[in-house]
Amino acid sequence: MFHEALSSATSDYSAAFAAEQAHYAANRVEDQLVCMQADIERLLLITEGLWSILKSEHGYDDEELVRRVLEVDLKDGKIDGKVAAQKPGDCPHCNRPLSQDRRYCLYCGEPTPIDLFTR
Ligand SMILES: [Zn+2]
Repeated sequence: MFHEALSSATSDYSAAFAAEQAHYAANRVEDQLVCMQADIERLLLITEGLWSILKSEHGYDDEELVRRVLEVDLKDGKIDGKVAAQKPGDCPHCNRPLSQDRRYCLYCGEPTPIDLFTR
């Protein structure tokens, strides 16, 4: 009798703990989503500002700018609204393969080329 009661209490405690952990995890995801929405809004504002400068200061029209965006989209071979991640390529100093997310070549120690649009 005592053993069953203890087992039931332990099970209730485990379930409550799991529910609390799930609640915190859901809150973290919600916070990340809010941050991502703010990032997207900021990027849209920057893009619109740059688009406007290209039109007013450099003579590009919407048609040409859209064509350029489609060129970027097509870099990975398909127009799908995104550019697939690319491999980092070879080191320009020693021609060995570069590792992703490294600032320096693992083989020769030279700084890796910076590509602001690497995904
Ligand atoms: Zn190298």
